[in-house]
Amino acid sequence: MRRVREATFAGTLVGRLVRGDDLLEELTGICGENAVGAGRIEGLGAVERARLAFFDQAVREYRFFELDEPLEITKLVGNVSLRDAVPFVHAHVTLADASGRAYGGHLAPGTVVFAFEFVIERFGGIELIREHDETTGLALWAME
Ligand code: ZN
Repeated sequence: MRRVREATFAGTLVGRLVRGDDLLEELTGICGENAVGAGRIEGLGAVERARLAFFDQAVREYRFFELDEPLEITKLVGNVSLRDAVPFVHAHVTLADASGRAYGGHLAPGTVVFAFEFVIERFGGIELIREHDETTGLALWAME
């Protein structure tokens, strides 16, 4: 069953991270400091190295992997919601190497920024709260 709500546009944060930042931790920190409890994130740039994950649906666990090389962030797309009452960033990235080959996955702590420019759009009129979902094993938007 589909679960859909209407959200309003409630402003935009625009910025960049600096070399050496942990990509996911900084985005999470920015959302926390600015009280962004619901929104979307988009960004691009480059990383010195990356740590991503793939959710193994059969065993319901994330499998983490590392890419220990400089890569372009051709796209980061993510959302912000509340998990355990604090802003939680869920982001996926596509990363490209020097030959243009792409890797992708669920962004994990341990991805080190070389340069990163982002836009965070804040949603109003909606609460997005993550709760454990029995059918997937993931913490998904409740939306009951
Ligand atoms: Zn994910």
